[in-house]
Amino acid sequence: MLKLQGIAVSPGVTIGEALVLDAEGFRIPRRFVERSAVDTELARLAHAVAETAREMEHNRDRIHAELGEQYAAIFDAHLAMLHDPRLQQELTAAVRDRNWWPEYAVSRTLRRYAKVFQSLDNHISQRAHDIYDIEKSLLRNLLGQRRETLAAISQPVIVLAHNLTPSETANLDRRFVKGFATELGGPGSHTAIVAEGLEIPAVVGIGPFLADVSGGEPVILDGNEGLVILQPDEETIARYRLEEEAARSVAARLGRLRDLPAETTDGVRIQIMGNIEFPSEVEQCIDRGCDGIGLYRTEFLYLTSKREPTEEDHFEAYSFVARAMNGKPVVIRTLDLGADKMLTEKTPEEERNPCLGLRSIRLSLRQLPMFRTQLRAILRASALGDVRVMFPLVSTIVELRQARMVLADVMEDLAEHGIAFNRKMPVGMMVETPAAALMLDAFIKEVDFVSVGTNDLIQYTLAVDRGNKEVAELYNACDPAVLRLLRRSLDVAAGAGVPANVCGQMSGSVMFTQLLLGMGLRQLSVPASAIPEVKQACRSVSVADCRLIAEKALTMDGAREVKAYLRDQVRRLLAETVA
Ligand code: PEP
Ligand code: MG
Repeated sequence: MLKLQGIAVSPGVTIGEALVLDAEGFRIPRRFVERSAVDTELARLAHAVAETAREMEHNRDRIHAELGEQYAAIFDAHLAMLHDPRLQQELTAAVRDRNWWPEYAVSRTLRRYAKVFQSLDNHISQRAHDIYDIEKSLLRNLLGQRRETLAAISQPVIVLAHNLTPSETANLDRRFVKGFATELGGPGSHTAIVAEGLEIPAVVGIGPFLADVSGGEPVILDGNEGLVILQPDEETIARYRLEEEAARSVAARLGRLRDLPAETTDGVRIQIMGNIEFPSEVEQCIDRGCDGIGLYRTEFLYLTSKREPTEEDHFEAYSFVARAMNGKPVVIRTLDLGADKMLTEKTPEEERNPCLGLRSIRLSLRQLPMFRTQLRAILRASALGDVRVMFPLVSTIVELRQARMVLADVMEDLAEHGIAFNRKMPVGMMVETPAAALMLDAFIKEVDFVSVGTNDLIQYTLAVDRGNKEVAELYNACDPAVLRLLRRSLDVAAGAGVPANVCGQMSGSVMFTQLLLGMGLRQLSVPASAIPEVKQACRSVSVADCRLIAEKALTMDGAREVKAYLRDQVRRLLAETVA
């Protein structure tokens, strides 16, 4: 049994069969060969070895001609490894004696070799990459056109991958993917956010582990503790089965809160809104008794489609959500592409710092036809319910004014053509840059509401990439700098009488409920899966107590201290609720 620690990004536990996707997305199931087919499969393996050798020789000759002997020697070394009699003998034995499918034999055997290199604590460990290269070449030649992709999953699996992009994650088939774990990835990445939206357990940032596992093996994914357990023993499997069962009964208990209001013990009504990435998630929010949709991340319309969405595509999605919410508010955020939410086809050129580059509202203001198309659809949907529009990543007042001007212009266009929309559609902005938080007293005069995006606010305040596991420790909602900007934003909004929301992941964690209510927040927007727990937390506290907790937390000067204090407070609260 092998227990691996990563970063827990989407809760829940699950047990299932591994589907391993390496950096190239190969999918190698543990498959066996019929005895009668052993010779054919051995011939296929031999053919793949010969093809791979041919490719290596070709590469060697080309590099030799262009760069000389020294560089060509790399391929000689690869060839020597490929033809190593011991390796060949092991591969043949795996197919002949164990009846392993050649792909599985190649993957298992070479990964074992690579692992030995990886375990060496010196420059030789780099040779593991060479072995992975050989593995990939062999697999490419074995699989040929049969290379399967994520799209072809047709049975329940736990995806174990080097990395998953937000769009790959958004395209996972929820009927079959029970959860996923990745070697890369940080706590605030959009891959993590989509996993929460899909309501599947997920663990990211584990570091190299794919060499230790093969497709088809049983694995346990613990999205609560951030653990992946390979080759689990019977006892551990039994323990996790009980945990799965317990989670189901907690969910059933929390389900009873659906129609109860999120009202504190001293009678303050809190609005709990849902965050969605796809229109279908609206049902999950309604099922949990949300008060509206506080954040609809529309960029996923682009990320799940092969072409740019038309006005009708937008309208279909927005009108579905507006109708489903039946008069409750729906905050549609305009396109927030860029940074880790990339459309490869659309990136005009490589950006050195995509998080600081042409993303979000900056991109929309640069690509006006695309922006106008989206705004037309949002406005048309505003005739069907309480639809509101929100601009992401605003960092200067000029951006906000420009965005409002484009909106006004689109309104005129619609009016001219007699198309129905709500002329008074509320317009809001996200507060997710320190600039926006610091200048909010100016911005606030020009918006109808604000929503604090703590995911980005943390990233930009602390100068720490939300998707990078190497700095995951620094990505911390408890940091006093973040708390001060948050409090300042909520104070400015309250002073101006403008409604404020917090829609970053922070508001979905009950550890922060008391702090946020104590800072004056009366509206939270959280992933659907977090609605019941957050509602229960709101119903168990008094605003008066929350104020004391917030005041105390804001006097602390370190994230660790704040975290320990908030943990303690939430533990106490849970103990009282149970008692
Ligand atoms: C945020 O930054 O907190 C936010 C809600 O937006 P996103 O996570 O989509 O960047
Ligand atoms: Mg954001």
